[in-house]
Amino acid sequence: MINGEKNIENPIRWGMVGGGRGSQIGYIHRSSALRDHNFELVAGAFDIDPERGKDFGVNLHVDPERCYADYKTMFEAEAKREDGIQAVSIATPNGTHYEITKAALIAGLHVVCEKPLCFTTTEAIELEELAYAKNLVVGISYGYSGHQMIEQARKMIENGDLGDIRIVKMQFAHGFHSTAVEKNNASTKWRVDPKVAGPSYVLGDLGTHPLYLSEVMLPNLKIKKLMCSRQSFVKSRSPLEDNAFTIMEYENGAMGTVWSSCVNAGSMHGQTIRIIGSKASIEWWDEHPNQLRYEVQGKPAMILDRGMDYLYSEALIDDRIGGGHPEGLFEAWSNLYSRFAKAMNAKDRGETLEDVWYPGIQAGVEGVRWVENCVRSADNGAVWVEYQ
Ligand code: NAD
Repeated sequence: MINGEKNIENPIRWGMVGGGRGSQIGYIHRSSALRDHNFELVAGAFDIDPERGKDFGVNLHVDPERCYADYKTMFEAEAKREDGIQAVSIATPNGTHYEITKAALIAGLHVVCEKPLCFTTTEAIELEELAYAKNLVVGISYGYSGHQMIEQARKMIENGDLGDIRIVKMQFAHGFHSTAVEKNNASTKWRVDPKVAGPSYVLGDLGTHPLYLSEVMLPNLKIKKLMCSRQSFVKSRSPLEDNAFTIMEYENGAMGTVWSSCVNAGSMHGQTIRIIGSKASIEWWDEHPNQLRYEVQGKPAMILDRGMDYLYSEALIDDRIGGGHPEGLFEAWSNLYSRFAKAMNAKDRGETLEDVWYPGIQAGVEGVRWVENCVRSADNGAVWVEYQ
């Protein structure tokens, strides 16, 4: 059970790059990092516009002197202080993640980076090697993985409740961009610009989320080959896709699919993952994250609820309020930030963190690798490609 008490001795002095006023994702980073008193927000380069960033930082009670015009100035100035930042979260558009993460690691800072970590697998592996060399944590904000029913699913699969796993069916398919909303929305505009967004739109922005959930639930499942078809139904988005279908063959013969879309008109989020085994299936939907559907062949379907004693004990560790009370995305992210803090603290002390998983640098590398393989398949005429 989590009740807001810090889980490390001294809260981590923490800064942010991006996530400024009006950004989509900045607030959930702050709310989640600060909730359990494992982090203290002491500095930031919150905005591409320095004045607006400073004004915003002051409203967050950050010392005006520590509201910086850009990340380079922040890393340099903070390194000179006895009480300088120890970790930084990066919540800027995709095209900046590689350079800011690299600079942060070189400056000796732990990092929480937004997905995608970068644009190419080569860059991702470079960052992975740098993080290992520097003994630093890079957490990736695959926030949905912090929901407790994801842990329940992981344990059910590990314990053989579903039998042999045959099919993994995933989707993240919302309808919010069914028309060219980017004309009037800055946050969507960069997402369809390859210079800022990278080689994909919905594959990286959406598909990597359920993909990571599958990695959590099925850590031993490895992709052997895949086939992807991508389209731009709103033509002005070309060459970036607003819809994509991916089929994957795993090394053990199991099959998987991912539907990534922002033109699923009428759908709110539409992120689901269904794992089908030889005995039973489970299904999780992010719009009802406190529930996990459990269907045993030949028996009535069951809805498992968060916080209940019949769950595996591991699925109760992050419980904050007890069953029946809905927990949501903010709690899921807080659970991850709590684990990021533990991981950072363990690294600093030279300790190994047992029995705690979190989306780390490897998750970042795998997300970038998957997008790269999908794009290679799609742009060669939706052909099967060996997974590289
Ligand atoms: P946004 O456009 O809404 O906000 C970006 C913020 O970064 C703004 O405050 C902007 O001023 C600031 N910024 C831009 N360049 C900067 C720079 N060089 N230095 C400092 N600040 C800078 O974008 P968003 O929707 O919040 O997305 C940001 C990142 O978060 C993206 O990589 C996106 O993929 C990711 N994201 C992740 C999730 C998730 O569930 N994990 C959800 C939404 C967005």
